[in-house]
Amino acid sequence: MVVEATLPVSYSLPLNNLLFPLNDLLGKTLKLKFMQQIHCVACKKPIKKSYQDGYCFPCTQTLAQSDICIIKPERCHFHLGTCREPDWGQHHCMAPHIVYLANASGIKVGITRKTNIPTRWIDQGAISAMPLYEVPNRRVSGLVEIALAQHVPDKTNWRKMLSGQTEEIDLISLSKNLLKEVASKFDEIYEKFGAQALKLIEKPVMVKLEYPVLEYPQKITSLSFDKKETIEGTLLGIKGQYLIFDIGVLNIRKHSGYVVAVHA
Ligand SMILES: [Zn+2]
Repeated sequence: MVVEATLPVSYSLPLNNLLFPLNDLLGKTLKLKFMQQIHCVACKKPIKKSYQDGYCFPCTQTLAQSDICIIKPERCHFHLGTCREPDWGQHHCMAPHIVYLANASGIKVGITRKTNIPTRWIDQGAISAMPLYEVPNRRVSGLVEIALAQHVPDKTNWRKMLSGQTEEIDLISLSKNLLKEVASKFDEIYEKFGAQALKLIEKPVMVKLEYPVLEYPQKITSLSFDKKETIEGTLLGIKGQYLIFDIGVLNIRKHSGYVVAVHA
């Protein structure tokens, strides 16, 4: 899904190179029919089964964007000269990254490329977020995240995120305590990468995000085109990467590359 950080967030589905706006469909019936075709999101080849949310198996073995360091940024190995696609790595990983705090299902720490803010926060269904540090590359962001993850979780509970029961947290005041606790943990990073490697964001702003949701589900049922060819229901909301129907929730990202006919 393509997102825009309006209040509430605007969602659209890319269909045949056009953007199909979803917010207007709230409260209406939406029918999505899987056409039994999947195309790898990278090489576009037809596939029977997708891996890592949209790739064919060969692409997961050769592309930098499918490498283990995408899930574990601290394992970025660009500096060793072993990046699967150095040009891609140069652009995506050897670029400024932000270490942030977000509240999607409670507080969590995360990292993303600087240019991915606030899209990354919206993808996670965060109701608020704030940047903590700017670092020069992906690897350093991963190392900082690990140090912070000893004090705050680094995962989102998507069921809680979709329940709409996330309580508001004052991230700014919470971050002050957190920064005191972790201050001594970064000596190794400074030693290895220099004093400039970790820039604390001065006077950070806590961004608040609202999602187009009429009603949150009481019970969360996960829908999938792998189990059901046609998904039809009343669209009750959109949050994170999920469409919330009256009959269950559909993770759109998981179905990247699936060919789907939309009847609204
Ligand atoms: Zn492929």
